[in-house]
Amino acid sequence: MDSERRGFAPEIIDDDLDEDGGEEAWGGGEGADDGGDGAAFRAAVRHILAEIGEDPEREGLVKTPDRVHRMYRELTRGYRVDPDRLINNAVFDVAYSEMVVVRGIEFYSLCEHHLLPFYGTAAVAYIPDGRVVGLSKIPRIVEMFARRLQVQERMTAQIAEFLMDRLRPQGVGVVMEATHLCTVMRGVGKQGTVMTTSHVLGIFRSNEKTRAEFLAHLQRPPTGV
Ligand SMILES: [Zn+2]
Repeated sequence: MDSERRGFAPEIIDDDLDEDGGEEAWGGGEGADDGGDGAAFRAAVRHILAEIGEDPEREGLVKTPDRVHRMYRELTRGYRVDPDRLINNAVFDVAYSEMVVVRGIEFYSLCEHHLLPFYGTAAVAYIPDGRVVGLSKIPRIVEMFARRLQVQERMTAQIAEFLMDRLRPQGVGVVMEATHLCTVMRGVGKQGTVMTTSHVLGIFRSNEKTRAEFLAHLQRPPTGV
């Protein structure tokens, strides 16, 4: 993660600040409530295996339904995040009104049309209006929306709108770049198939200079960690 923290007192945004309200916001981990023991899920995977001409009982596949079940629990854990717990204890009143940019945020999501991964990086920026959020929360917000069945355009908008709603900043800008396996694996133009989506709200939408400043940030080579 490469962040811009101009003008911030470091303690305001230090990642170590959010000891609490971090992981537990993510709901239960292994074996958490999923409305059952996963039997229906495993049966469905066995059914798919049979349908594609495999033998669900052969050695290499016997445990596959269980593995797939647990993996999907993890890849879709964003549905079970409590957004209030994720963010509320990391919002601080700060008289700061310059652009905050966090970029290079890696994400992995699943396209809802094919259930195949798409992955890439996100850049999130906002201009505070008296309130800032702990920097480490921004990748977690991205994660909350990425770990669902998604469409990249919608996810980009959801992240922007979530920040707009919770922080009431002057504006938000989100840019996401991703490779979609449903495209590259099927050979529909294997090279350079990176999809870019953006969503701007508030002053990022209304003020061309703000938007330009944001885009200039994205073009600078990454520095720092
Ligand atoms: Zn797809």
